[in-house]
Amino acid sequence: MPRGICMIVSAPSGGGKSTLIREMLQRFDNLRHSISYTTRTPRLDEGDKNDYHFIDEAAFLQMQAADEFLEWAEVHGRLYGTSRNDLDTLLAHGYDVIMDIDIQGAMQAKEQLADAVYVFVMPPSMEILEQRLRDRRSETLAALERRLSNALQEIPWYDRYDYVVINDDLETAIDRLRSILIAEHLSTKRRAVHEQAMLCMKETKR
Ligand code: ADP
Ligand code: 5GP
Repeated sequence: MPRGICMIVSAPSGGGKSTLIREMLQRFDNLRHSISYTTRTPRLDEGDKNDYHFIDEAAFLQMQAADEFLEWAEVHGRLYGTSRNDLDTLLAHGYDVIMDIDIQGAMQAKEQLADAVYVFVMPPSMEILEQRLRDRRSETLAALERRLSNALQEIPWYDRYDYVVINDDLETAIDRLRSILIAEHLSTKRRAVHEQAMLCMKETKR
């Protein structure tokens, strides 16, 4: 079975990663979300094992010491990490996997997952980003300020990614992200494309 494609998505907080990933999961049957581990507390609408595995710092540090994380980072004062084993199991089963990780994590992943696709989701402007974060009402004022000031440090990293998706109109942004995954499956970088070509040539010889 061909291994799935891993799509790594980063954006400043409020950029629209969770929204876009949710929409992608509804549109691709073969796509799964890699569920990260975090020490942050769940938001009102979040449940364990759906959005994140919510664990305490001691459990996180234990996983870290056992080298269970493909990548991990401290983001906005909390720890977040991706289980190497969880990701590998999904890819080996042929699922495409979409991961929402911050820039530090994406740069660590790049060293180990050369064939992953790296996508930066860009807000249309800082004003709109701030408005979306405020409207989400998920953060205290201090946490919101921290996320906005982090955004200014994060946005300049966009050119380390393969693609940039501007999240202005939601449907258009979803189409952009969908197009990337579809195109990646057709790329000559992918083994499945070569296997298909071999099959076709074999049939021609008969
Ligand atoms: P992130 O996961 O990157 O922190 P979210 O997906 O939670 O961001 O999006 C932040 C807020 O902006 C959410 O309330 C979401 O509903 C809203 N949002 C996301 N994309 C758009 C869009 N294109 N247009 C309008 N609102 C959006
Ligand atoms: P939030 O707390 O808003 O869900 O996420 C905060 C930040 O943590 C986002 O930038 C998100 O991409 C990042 N993040 C979520 N999961 C992971 C992970 O497993 N690893 C890393 N490095 N960052 C993550």
